[in-house]
Amino acid sequence: MTAAAAEPVAERSEHSSRPSSFALLMNNRLATAGLVVLAVIVVAALAAPILPLENPDATDPAHRLAPLFSAAHPLGTDALGRDVLSRLVWGSRVSLAVGVSASLIAALAGSAIGLVAGYAGGRTDQAMMRGIDLLMAFPYILLALAIVAILGPGLVNALYAIAIVNIPFFARNIRGITLGLARREFVDAAKLSGKGPVRILATEILPNVLPTIVITLSTTVGWMILETAGLSFLGLGAQPPQADLGSMLGEGRKVMFTAPAVSLVPGLAIFLIVMAINLLGDGIRDVLDPRLRSGALTRPSARTAIVRDRRRPKEEPDPEATLDVRDLSTEFHMGRSTAKAVGGVDLKIARGECLGLVGESGSGKSVTAMSLMGLVPSPPGVVAGGTVAFKGEDLLDARDARIRELRGGAVSHVFQDPLATLHPLFPVGDQVAEAIRAHRPLSRRDADAETRRLFELVRIPNPAERMKAYPHELSGGLRQRVSIAMALANDPELIVADEPTTALDVTVQAQVLRLLDELRREKNAAVLFITHDFGVVSEICERVAVMYAGRIVETGKTDEVLSEPAHPYTRMLIDCVPVMGEPERRLDAIRGRPPAVDALTPGCAFADRCPRVQADCRTGELPLTPKRDSLAARCLHPLEPGETLS
Ligand code: ADP
Ligand code: MG
Repeated sequence: MTAAAAEPVAERSEHSSRPSSFALLMNNRLATAGLVVLAVIVVAALAAPILPLENPDATDPAHRLAPLFSAAHPLGTDALGRDVLSRLVWGSRVSLAVGVSASLIAALAGSAIGLVAGYAGGRTDQAMMRGIDLLMAFPYILLALAIVAILGPGLVNALYAIAIVNIPFFARNIRGITLGLARREFVDAAKLSGKGPVRILATEILPNVLPTIVITLSTTVGWMILETAGLSFLGLGAQPPQADLGSMLGEGRKVMFTAPAVSLVPGLAIFLIVMAINLLGDGIRDVLDPRLRSGALTRPSARTAIVRDRRRPKEEPDPEATLDVRDLSTEFHMGRSTAKAVGGVDLKIARGECLGLVGESGSGKSVTAMSLMGLVPSPPGVVAGGTVAFKGEDLLDARDARIRELRGGAVSHVFQDPLATLHPLFPVGDQVAEAIRAHRPLSRRDADAETRRLFELVRIPNPAERMKAYPHELSGGLRQRVSIAMALANDPELIVADEPTTALDVTVQAQVLRLLDELRREKNAAVLFITHDFGVVSEICERVAVMYAGRIVETGKTDEVLSEPAHPYTRMLIDCVPVMGEPERRLDAIRGRPPAVDALTPGCAFADRCPRVQADCRTGELPLTPKRDSLAARCLHPLEPGETLS
């Protein structure tokens, strides 16, 4: 019984797992090739003592300069009759060991300097960084030569020289990142919890810079192997008779014209090792980037990928409606798991109408809104079915150029956080003017005049002054007005507002809402208004759609939905809203959590949390069916008027 119960859970958790780093790395063919080549070389180098190889240093003048593929010497012999294959394997062992050790020393010392300098700041930072600058002021190969000249030639000294020369790369890199992290809130929180600087560096900052250290390391190892080879080539590294790839190259140079293979073989080996390490390093860098982890290792496309099931019949859109969405589904494909963020949504908005889209966080509201104009990031996002029609025109089938024309033109978006969506380095007036000029052939002057008119329209006081302000100089309310001005710039017929007032305080929220409502009526634009706040819905929306786990569970006229909802979920959402002067009101949050959209079960997605759940709720597909008046709900046991949840 327990085993049977545990099994599906284990299966599900494995199913929903993100692709492992290794699987992602294997996705990248070049990195895989690099890994394979490197693995072969490393294994051969490690196994050198047990391989049936001749003594790499044993000279045999009778068989000097034997050609490639001769019976006793597959890669021939060098000028002293030593077996090239044996020297190659032993030499690669030395070169790899020196290059990797030098990188590790440089990474360790450089990162430590960077961490301390970046975190301590002030004089410590100044002193350490000026020291680093001093190192960087010399051409690095000259510096390495100077260090070897002082320490004396030899492999170990070459290793130190290369490590020292590369410390600045790590130190500068890590200091920059540490500097940014040291002023972040989570570090302040750690300080407040009583942690000392050493522990903060070790437990808060180091984990954040570790990926950068690994990336820098993986991309510099190849370089350091080259530098080791360079020093040995010049006779400053490995000393005869010891073989390393650089000294082999140097010795081969002397017989370059009589026996080119002697220098070609180590040259090729250096090339292969460095190439393999660099390809692998690039692959590792891509894998460690969290934004790439959730998708294939490709660049995000300008528009959401559309994979429509051709067997599903396409419905003719209503040409009268400004927006007509039928059966829209949007999925996120991550490794083997598929998150059905939007699973068959129908929406219709008439000209001049405002439709509210309400639901808990994570219910798929934003993804629905972004799917309309192909703004869902792809990969991992995919529009998996349905139609989206704007005034009768199918947007999913439209060409990219047409979508670009509509974006910010006839269809505009207002987002939740204008600080994140406005460009921090340009004055807000310029940004609005740019939005205008992207769609209309206006001169700079005319665009500025138009911007001023828009700023007046959204009631920004003192518009001429404000146009020159940068986003960080404006208050949250003013910033949101700027975004609304930008959204209105090209007389949109559809405005998609995704929680535009959630980041604002109540008084500013009321002003922005009233403004949006007035502008909509003035311009007769349709609005898709996304919010989690029923109070806001009741103020400006004629109709409302309630979303849960990627589907619309109830829709109808706002006052009907708000006063007598049919779906228990809507009722509970409404009951969660506190009302002033009614302290006895039930404020119990809805039990449980929304289901994970990558593991939806048949039947009603709300069943697990619903107080009215019955056995039939958990089977089959529940359609959105008309209940009473304008209400339609996806529920088998809807609430009757006046009925409350016990
Ligand atoms: P909300 O209703 O709060 O706006 P969203 O539409 O943002 O919710 O998210 C719906 C679901 O889609 C969530 O489960 C979320 O985790 C998932 N999701 C959203 N964006 C991405 C993304 N870029 N990659 C993977 N999953 C995503
Ligand atoms: Mg959202």
